[in-house]
Amino acid sequence: MELAVYGSESLLAEGEELILDIEQRLSVTDSSSEIAELNRNGKAAVTSETESLLEKALALCERTDGALDITVYPVVRAWGFTTGEYKVPEEIDLIDALALVDYRKVKLDSGSASLSPGMQIDLGSVAKGWAGDKVMEMFRQRGVESALLNLGGNVQALGSKPDGSSWRVGVRSPSGDGYAGAVEISDKAVITSGGYQRFFEENGNRYHHIIDPKTGWPASNGLLSVTVIGDSGIACDGLSTALFVMGPERALTFWETQGDFEAIFIMEDKVVITDGLADSFEPLGKYADMKVEVQYRDKD
Ligand code: AMP
Ligand code: MG
Repeated sequence: MELAVYGSESLLAEGEELILDIEQRLSVTDSSSEIAELNRNGKAAVTSETESLLEKALALCERTDGALDITVYPVVRAWGFTTGEYKVPEEIDLIDALALVDYRKVKLDSGSASLSPGMQIDLGSVAKGWAGDKVMEMFRQRGVESALLNLGGNVQALGSKPDGSSWRVGVRSPSGDGYAGAVEISDKAVITSGGYQRFFEENGNRYHHIIDPKTGWPASNGLLSVTVIGDSGIACDGLSTALFVMGPERALTFWETQGDFEAIFIMEDKVVITDGLADSFEPLGKYADMKVEVQYRDKD
């Protein structure tokens, strides 16, 4: 966690505390969390905050037609991504786990949440973005005009830099060698999902942690990473995961029709950016020599 608050240093500790508190409440591995209880019992009382997060997360599942699915947890577990005991699951285990996946079966009812039998949820795809939103909201209410938060690849900015200029946010190179580019923003979330962030190798194949809920396998479609830039941290976080699952063509069509965000798609041989970033994205390193394609909304 990296947090900078300008003009009000005392809020640093408060911001940090808030993030740790949210993490504790949402963690699937901390057995005392609301989400762990929900997964254990199939039903749990939830605070209004958690209920509001679940509502927003489920709306994103709907909006992405299940490319994002917070009930994919049994599949994530079958691959060992929660325990670190990585393995390619047996096909039969994958089929069993997939049968439990369907975000439409999560029910929210004023103060309580319930799942269908065997179902489990995992908010890993949206929790950091949500936590960022909450911290920025708290800072804004307290009169902060300039702050920057980096939660391991999730960057969220409140306002501009103290001198009034834009923040320059680096987008990591999926191959681990520094940055693929930088983007200039203010008052935005810049959130990346990539297969390079968590993966294991078996028999020469690489398997990463972002699962296509339709197949139960790590999404494999040519995308190395997707960065989503927009106003809402939770939306950018959910969408970056979802667009990574959709793959380049579907993701670009989605952007064209939805369009309340900008995105950077990094592939093996090129980078595609949406037109709102044409003036603010700068490719770096080996990407500076590659083709950067700009996707326009009205292009046929
Ligand atoms: P992110 O880093 O935001 O892209 O989130 C990735 C995490 O979300 C993974 O580590 C899993 O815990 C979980 N996850 C993986 N695939 C999906 C999916 N298709 N929908 C929702 N959550 C997912
Ligand atoms: Mg995400």
